[in-house]
Amino acid sequence: MKRTVAIIGGGVAGIAAAVRAAEAGWSPILIETRTKLGGRATSFVDARSGLELDNCQHVVMGCCTNIIELYDTLAVLDEIEWMRTLWFARGGGPRDALSIGALPAPMHYAWSFARMKLYSWSEKAAIARGFLAILRGGAVARVRWRGRSFAEFLQSTQQPARVIELFWDPVVLSACNVSSAKCEAAHALKVFDEGMLAHRFAGVVGVARIPLARLYDAAQKIIEAAGGELRLRTSAKAFAFDGTRITGVVCDDGVVAAQAFIAAVPPDRLAKLCSATMCQADKRLHTLEQFEFSPILGVHLAMKRRVMTTANLALPGRATHWLFAHEVTAECGFAQRIEAVVSAADDWMDLSEAEIEARVLADMQWAIPGVTTDDIVWSRRVLEKHATFVSAPGVDLIRPRTRVAAGDIKGGVENLYLAGEWTDTDWPSTMEGAARSGFAAAASVTGARGISADLPTAALVRFARLFS
Ligand SMILES: Cc1cc2nc3c(=O)[nH]c(=O)nc-3n(C[C@H](O)[C@H](O)[C@H](O)COP(=O)(O)OP(=O)(O)OC[C@H]3O[C@@H](n4cnc5c(N)ncnc54)[C@H](O)[C@@H]3O)c2cc1C
Repeated sequence: MKRTVAIIGGGVAGIAAAVRAAEAGWSPILIETRTKLGGRATSFVDARSGLELDNCQHVVMGCCTNIIELYDTLAVLDEIEWMRTLWFARGGGPRDALSIGALPAPMHYAWSFARMKLYSWSEKAAIARGFLAILRGGAVARVRWRGRSFAEFLQSTQQPARVIELFWDPVVLSACNVSSAKCEAAHALKVFDEGMLAHRFAGVVGVARIPLARLYDAAQKIIEAAGGELRLRTSAKAFAFDGTRITGVVCDDGVVAAQAFIAAVPPDRLAKLCSATMCQADKRLHTLEQFEFSPILGVHLAMKRRVMTTANLALPGRATHWLFAHEVTAECGFAQRIEAVVSAADDWMDLSEAEIEARVLADMQWAIPGVTTDDIVWSRRVLEKHATFVSAPGVDLIRPRTRVAAGDIKGGVENLYLAGEWTDTDWPSTMEGAARSGFAAAASVTGARGISADLPTAALVRFARLFS
């Protein structure tokens, strides 16, 4: 007999859970309140231009093995464009390349890093000192530094203020959406260790060639082939809880019954689905109200001419953090589309579209001289207030497990499984964290395979750790 799992939330976590449950022979019922899949990593049709635009530029890295596997399952891996070089603007036009070279990990960036002009030789020595500490410390250092800020770690390796502003912070802001001073050290250390040092492919950056929402098109077929159902425009209102187990999820169009329930919604949304009795019964639900969120601003710019000659450009020390250039077809009526990204965008929340455009343009002019307001055909801003949970020091203590721990004498709601990038994934708030949580939840339900293996740590990295 087919077993059914109801999954609430059609973001990356819910999609990952659904396709894995389907693969294991279960029938997933995926319930999503919106008209499309993707949650925070999706796209929308812009009414003014008619174009399908992403809510913001999303990037994956080579170390994100689970989101890569999800794309592979959805047969869209070919739609990801991989970039081996990241460009850093120096102001006034010139820029530095940080490229993966011929040397083995962890020295694969060494050659291009040595050639960067953004940092003086003494600053490069400081950065190298920081990396050496990260390399030697590995996972052990992450445990040791957990609960403290990354700024404290940087201080322990005597990083100058300019180096923090122009090197460490731009990376931490992009990956964790908070500055080093506010970031859980374990999360930032993981980004630099597993994202840059551990493997040659780890730091390769991937962006989707098609709108994000299109990446998930195959999910419906996979779900339906397993006897499941994709219910868009359906909001879960509450779990029906009998004191021990969940018996159904009450939606605006009826009750969905299932043997198991995966909640793949953000913590504040999950809190709304659970009664006080249910929250009391399961300690994983005790911390839902304690999460804080950080905003991200995405600005789409249609340009009259090709002003960017590189696919990406970091703007170290500026309020706009990254620019990504996208090719467009002749029918678009403009020559290039640029997506500007402002992480931790708290200061931008109350600005008008015109003010945002002016600020982003000023940063673009700093990086790419000659760009003027006349080059902009139109701009659109998308402000996501709850873009990520805040990777504050100690946050991992409030991130709940997927399932009730085996042998937990206080018990919990056994047929409730938690997914979402905010759960206990060991990753910052990313699509990789979301995909991991979805795979882990599906594995807990079905008993089939769980999260995909990380990239193997390079031999020289392992060797360096032997002598730490
Ligand atoms: C602007 C922005 C930029 C980002 N950039 C990156 C990046 O470059 N790289 C990266 O890895 N990550 C990035 N992230 C983070 C990434 O998007 C998220 O970590 C990830 O998408 C979270 O997925 P999720 O499935 O856990 O949650 P969500 O995407 O939030 O999915 C939850 C889903 O549940 C649905 N839902 C909520 N309540 C109900 C209900 N009651 N009933 C039914 N459905 C419900 C929601 O509509 C939503 O679709 C970015 C996020 C934002 C917002």
